[in-house]
Amino acid sequence: MLTREQALDMFRSDDLIGIGMEADTLRRKLHPGGVVTYIIDRNINYTNVCTEYCSFCAFYRAKGHKESYVQPKEVIFQKIQETIDLGGTGVLMQGGLHPDLKIEWYEDLFRSIKQRFTIHLHCLSAPEVTNIAEVSGLSLRDTIARLRDSGLDSIPGGGAEILDDAVRYRISRLKCGTQDWMDVHRTAHQLGMRTTATMMFGCGETIEQRMNHFDLIRDLQAETGGFTAFIPWSFQRENTSLGRFVKEEATAVEYLKTLAISRIYLSNILNVQSSWVTQGLKTCQVGLRFGGNDVGSIMIEENVVSAAGARNHATEEDLRRMIRDAGFTPKQRDTLYRSYFLN
Ligand code: SF4
Repeated sequence: MLTREQALDMFRSDDLIGIGMEADTLRRKLHPGGVVTYIIDRNINYTNVCTEYCSFCAFYRAKGHKESYVQPKEVIFQKIQETIDLGGTGVLMQGGLHPDLKIEWYEDLFRSIKQRFTIHLHCLSAPEVTNIAEVSGLSLRDTIARLRDSGLDSIPGGGAEILDDAVRYRISRLKCGTQDWMDVHRTAHQLGMRTTATMMFGCGETIEQRMNHFDLIRDLQAETGGFTAFIPWSFQRENTSLGRFVKEEATAVEYLKTLAISRIYLSNILNVQSSWVTQGLKTCQVGLRFGGNDVGSIMIEENVVSAAGARNHATEEDLRRMIRDAGFTPKQRDTLYRSYFLN
């Protein structure tokens, strides 16, 4: 396993191709079949009401704002039906931290979805889960267990940004801290659920702070084995208040280097995603030679990073062609990264 010092040396190095080749060698070892996966699913943002005011976020609206919303169940059902009709296997449902929605609202929503559809529910990032626990006056464990029992299948890694409280204090002062994020994922793993780990970098953090993030993720994976994938992506600045201070988004070189170091450092996490939504199809394709073995979702609907200026769109065939042209076999997967029963 790579040491922290070795990883820091890689961040300081200009040998992009050498780092990429090392990541590629490890990816080949972990995924010898030459397959690159993708998923057909949909983001559903059930509410944009949020009390946290994160400086990198262009999505939230204050309660009572004329553009604020909570989606009615019928609208959510319709979006799920459309997802299934397009060959989708899951939905990623996330929202702002609504101050009034208690656990019963979520239990009712998940149960009524599961009564109607066979669909994987990958929902509620760690800050939402801690918010539900708080608003409902419940422990974290009881909250996650009740959500699981009502139909929640797995938890996405959103809200991690950089797991370092000095960075979090600067960019998302009100949102859950490093320990809260870790507690949600550890508890979910202990309750038998799988989750993903994400990292939003390029928001003014140091490479040491990035390494703090990697260390926490690697240690928790060693403890529980509950992460299915690591998904790094770079801060998108448009329409965000943080964008007034962080003037430049991460370049393709910085993205590819960070992706490759993630692959090498987090060798105990099987899947690493190369992001086309934030980096564009071409950089994402190169990322498949820098450690990425998955390109994420065709994203039937995405509102959060597009609100912050990411405007990349792709069809299933676009993704398959991009994967084939990089020398791999494209395969559709489900939310838990299983592709054996799909095309
Ligand atoms: S990132 Fe999430 S928690 Fe922060 S303001 Fe946006 S919706 Fe709210």
